Amino acid sequence: MGIDLKLENFSWCGECITRPLIIAGPCSAESEEQVMLTAKALSANGVKIFRAGIWKPRTRPNAFEGVGSEGLKWMRRVKEETGMLTSTEVANVKHVYEALKNGVDIIWIGARTSANPFAVQDIADALRGVDIPVLVKNPVNPDVELWIGALERINNAGITKLAAIHRGFSTYDKTLFRNEPQWQIPIELRRRIPDLPIITDPSHICGNRQLLYDVSQKAMDLNFDGLIIESHINPDKALSDASQQLTPDALKELLDRLILRESDGDPEVELNLAELREQIDKLDDKLINLFEKRMQVAGEIGSHKKENNLTILQSKRWDDLLKKRLNLGVKKGLSEEFILKVFRSIHQESINRQTVIMNTDDKSKDA
Ligand code: PEP
Ligand code: MN
Repeated sequence: MGIDLKLENFSWCGECITRPLIIAGPCSAESEEQVMLTAKALSANGVKIFRAGIWKPRTRPNAFEGVGSEGLKWMRRVKEETGMLTSTEVANVKHVYEALKNGVDIIWIGARTSANPFAVQDIADALRGVDIPVLVKNPVNPDVELWIGALERINNAGITKLAAIHRGFSTYDKTLFRNEPQWQIPIELRRRIPDLPIITDPSHICGNRQLLYDVSQKAMDLNFDGLIIESHINPDKALSDASQQLTPDALKELLDRLILRESDGDPEVELNLAELREQIDKLDDKLINLFEKRMQVAGEIGSHKKENNLTILQSKRWDDLLKKRLNLGVKKGLSEEFILKVFRSIHQESINRQTVIMNTDDKSKDA
């Protein structure tokens, strides 16, 4: 089963066809004044699609959960007075009907909802026969199949004006990001559905203002199609996601600084790229060979430990090894985060290898 798309990507947003497609507006609609002031400032800065959450999925109860349907009247005013298209999140059938009834132009399905096939199916059924663009955020968990499944459910209801929003993935580890970007997942989505526009949501990836530019630029360098960024007329006073929102002017500054590179251009450029890719392929093959050798040695250590009745995990040794590799890695310009991830993963694989060897030895001795 594939995804049936209108090939003229973004034909649904009229003059905003030029890349990158920009959607901006506050995390939440809070008051008519906040919505109108933000929308007018964004519109004056060239933004053509306005976003605002009307119903907010909050992690804990008793936080601000959105103004509800009343805010849709303010969205209508935004449309009438600025000419911008309006967009909001829908999480259930009632939201869909309310949004459609009030003339919202584009709807999106949030990360918590797209993780739930029952909820997505209900929304899809409510949308049957409606020709509205639908943006599907990645599910909170890093599962590209689930993301594609949500897109398919919407597409099967007859919606062809589809795009994906990459907003990062939840992890228990503390990282620089509020939601780890895990770029390989939207890249895989692009490989699987090449014509599907991908819009990056740096705001929910970063959770702060400092990293927004780098994440936006990276999305452009990966040839993704657009950005959805939260912007509030007075970010520090925002009722939700205050630390990640930008003023409309700061947003303009960020967008003006973005460097847009060509993807399919000059054949010579393509060729250089192909050569560099070949180098990468060779290096990756070398890495695999090194991993193989390393695991062989780990296996020998496993046998040795078994013979001498030692435990598999020698924490002091692991701690020393990690510190040394971190030192070396940082000296070589690699990030601590990267070295940690790689060596934790190598260590885990070594332990698995040693466990197998110990159990095999046991069985052969028992026999
Ligand atoms: C939002 O865009 O305001 C939002 C709640 O996002 P997400 O579903 O990505 O958390
Ligand atoms: Mn938000």
